[in-house]
Amino acid sequence: CGICGCVFFNSTVSSLELLRQLQHSMARMEYRGYDSCGAAIQCQLRNGDPGIELFKAVGSPSETFWPVVEAGVDQINPALVQPIQLGMGHTRWATHGEAGVRNCHPHVSSDKKEFVVVHNGQITNFAQIRNYLKAQRNWDFYSETDTEVIPKLALYFYEQTPNATFPDVVEQVCQVLDGAYALIFMSTLFPNEVVATKCGSPLIIGVKSDSRLQLSDCRTSFKSDNAEAEYRMDEPNHMIYKPSDTKSKPKVQYYFSSDRPALGG
Ligand code: GLU
Repeated sequence: CGICGCVFFNSTVSSLELLRQLQHSMARMEYRGYDSCGAAIQCQLRNGDPGIELFKAVGSPSETFWPVVEAGVDQINPALVQPIQLGMGHTRWATHGEAGVRNCHPHVSSDKKEFVVVHNGQITNFAQIRNYLKAQRNWDFYSETDTEVIPKLALYFYEQTPNATFPDVVEQVCQVLDGAYALIFMSTLFPNEVVATKCGSPLIIGVKSDSRLQLSDCRTSFKSDNAEAEYRMDEPNHMIYKPSDTKSKPKVQYYFSSDRPALGG
């Protein structure tokens, strides 16, 4: 299994080309195992609204992903080129829940996609978190995965601290999670931003001079793409990447801190 993210700055790529890039990255991770796959892209919806669209398929990225894109691409403006194009993908090797579409990543906080997450690893205290959120918010959970608690927890913290930045929200989430994870987050509340973080699982950032940045927990996908710079996270640090804005050159912010102790209760 594996996760990947891709950000094009000063972009000339269309939403459809971004999906092709994500499929390429996901297919590069197939050797790590997969039972299903999925991707999220920031895009313009057919009604003109900005949004995040999801594409999910049971099976391999190289074989089953693209037919799902072709079937679902009507929902978006596929030719649209935006200053920042960002998206993320996942190849799943299930630890919690069968290999079905409802368990495919990316997972979301709600239909509004306030927070959207791809996850490599497993969250050992997910049942505790799910019970807590159900008791506090009465939210429905649509999947059997451990992952779904992550975007919902992000929404829970965001609602409590609406002035928090995207990295702030993710930091709060990480304080609660037990287990191993590499995560990438997108959000309709924070357009043009992507946050990646890890604990236990590896995570690499690759940067190319064609204004492309890639996030992955898989070293070989960068080697094959000839990334010109690589930033590898070393244990036990915690990293967040956040692009600054659409006009300036990408500024990389790294927030390092030790792995957090688990919250009890
Ligand atoms: N634990 C998550 C799940 O079962 C992620 C598994 C993976 O790393 O692919 O959905």
